[in-house]
Amino acid sequence: MRLVLLGPPGAGKGTQAAKIAEAYQIPHISTGDIFRSNVRDATPLGEEAQGYMDRGALVPDELVIRMVSDRLGQDDCAKGFLLDGFPRTVPQAQALDRLLDESGRPLDLVLRFEVPEEELVARLLKRADLEGRVDDTEDVIRKRFEVYRDETSPLADFYEAQGLLTDIDAVGSVEDVTARALGALEDVEPRP
Ligand code: AMP
Repeated sequence: MRLVLLGPPGAGKGTQAAKIAEAYQIPHISTGDIFRSNVRDATPLGEEAQGYMDRGALVPDELVIRMVSDRLGQDDCAKGFLLDGFPRTVPQAQALDRLLDESGRPLDLVLRFEVPEEELVARLLKRADLEGRVDDTEDVIRKRFEVYRDETSPLADFYEAQGLLTDIDAVGSVEDVTARALGALEDVEPRP
């Protein structure tokens, strides 16, 4: 199964991604997690990404695309994968399509997690308290929403046009949302 998860900051994408990846025994590829671990280890990639992340801005497409291309080339992705936080721009989605076309392994489904904006802000501020993420202060949260609206939300149309988009109501308990997502996936015949 080859999946992409879409959804605004605070929609619970990461949590759901981990559960879906476990259910299907596929690698959970979170570009945000990869960047954070590079920042922690002070690698050159981390140093390049950190300034963008701290501001709530997107890391340049070229850097992200190269990183995801490397990751998808690893052996564990042969049986499928779940992308969480990528693509985030139309050029990233186009690059992903090209990459998957070249290797003859198209996406099976794109799940979009939907939550009303007021609830998202409340969730993010709570997460800022709990996890101390530097990119969860109010200004940065606002910026991340703006970036989502301007750069990432057009991807819904992009994938809708390919017949791949499925919306998931992401309000409710983690378990309920997982059940909805897994329910949507049950109807999907993985493409060869
Ligand atoms: P996330 O954990 O997915 O919210 O990502 C945290 C931060 O990492 C984002 O605010 C961006 O700065 C950066 N990032 C993660 N994924 C991408 C991506 N696909 N394109 C550009 N920047 C990204």
